[in-house]
Amino acid sequence: MDEPKYDFFCYGCGAASCVRDNTTCPVCGEPFSIRAHATPPAGLFERTPRSMWDYFDLLPVDDRADVVTLNEGATPLIEATRLANNIGAGCVLLKSEMANPTGSFKDRQVSVGISHARAIGADTVAVVSSGNVACAASAYAARCGLKAVLLMHGHAAPGKIAVASVYGGRAIQVDTPSAAEAFDLCIEACRQFGWYHLSTAGMYNPFNVEGAKTIAYELFQQTDGDLPDWIVAPCGGGGLLGGVWRGFLDLKRLGLIDRIPRMAGVQAAGCAPLKKAIDNDTPYLETLEDPWPDPHTIAGGIADDILFDGHTALPAIRTTNGAAVNVDDDEILEGQRLLATQEGLLCEPTTAVVIAALRHLPGIASNTRICCIVTGTGSKDLDTVKKIAPPAVHIEPTLEALNTAFHHHDDT
Ligand SMILES: [Zn+2]
Repeated sequence: MDEPKYDFFCYGCGAASCVRDNTTCPVCGEPFSIRAHATPPAGLFERTPRSMWDYFDLLPVDDRADVVTLNEGATPLIEATRLANNIGAGCVLLKSEMANPTGSFKDRQVSVGISHARAIGADTVAVVSSGNVACAASAYAARCGLKAVLLMHGHAAPGKIAVASVYGGRAIQVDTPSAAEAFDLCIEACRQFGWYHLSTAGMYNPFNVEGAKTIAYELFQQTDGDLPDWIVAPCGGGGLLGGVWRGFLDLKRLGLIDRIPRMAGVQAAGCAPLKKAIDNDTPYLETLEDPWPDPHTIAGGIADDILFDGHTALPAIRTTNGAAVNVDDDEILEGQRLLATQEGLLCEPTTAVVIAALRHLPGIASNTRICCIVTGTGSKDLDTVKKIAPPAVHIEPTLEALNTAFHHHDDT
């Protein structure tokens, strides 16, 4: 029999287990994470990936026939010279996850999660989402002929609900501002109805967050192994931050790197359990007893009242001398506008937190290199785009009117 590709590992206490349906560490009670075992084929990291499934050996799906893919991953890394100059850094790199099939990094996670769902014979998947996971789950379910139930909580943008529904998933709005409450409903429904829980929350299902690891692999390749000093990522539940960090741990295990970048997680000031936990040095399980009261922010994609992946996001920051940063809604809108007008990328507010956070990072010098994970497109949430876009000017069809309007616009 082949060696198993992965086992379960606890970042709280270091315990490991091979039992495939045990997702809680019996020693300390923290959730298990998946840890890849494989030694990938020689040359894997020298070839430009065509999709994240080029890293199949490091992902927790045993049979290639179960893989559900839309060629997610293999996203561009773009140098942002003007942003770097603005903050006096040596280099700012943008990992553009907007280039994924449904416009966000969630495609990587959902691709792995739904492949696992198929491997264990599920016919219906269910997610709790503020939008991006619902869009991804709906699209990937369509791709492989599964049914999708999309539980959208109170922070979902109307545009995202519409996009998610177009793929054929059943969008249902749950009237609560608490992500944790929506999760409780989804978990109970999955238990009662036999659905596969496809939400990207590692504490409930470690498979669904694995895809984020591949961002670290790609960054390693795209920088020719010369990784940046900082990785800056939006943080809701923390699955992205924890996933990218675990991807770097894989590269270290394989002897490809000896230094892991400093990991920074960015939240909105109106919902900031990460910064609270880091500032108070709170152990992960204790953070779960103290949900953020009344989350409110324009960055709906990260308005999570608890850290669903704090068991990896907290050590990602704590072991890399990283940082937790909060930004307010005005800074977020300004970050969204800045990325669009200075670098030509329209991101969503949830993503713009990383641009807003750049000026808050500690110790930025003229040789500091920073990579921002640009997690999702702004084009699914046009209501927010309208808030930062100047309105069009109406004119008569004359050159004089056009000239006046153009220069007027130029002045403002
Ligand atoms: Zn443990």
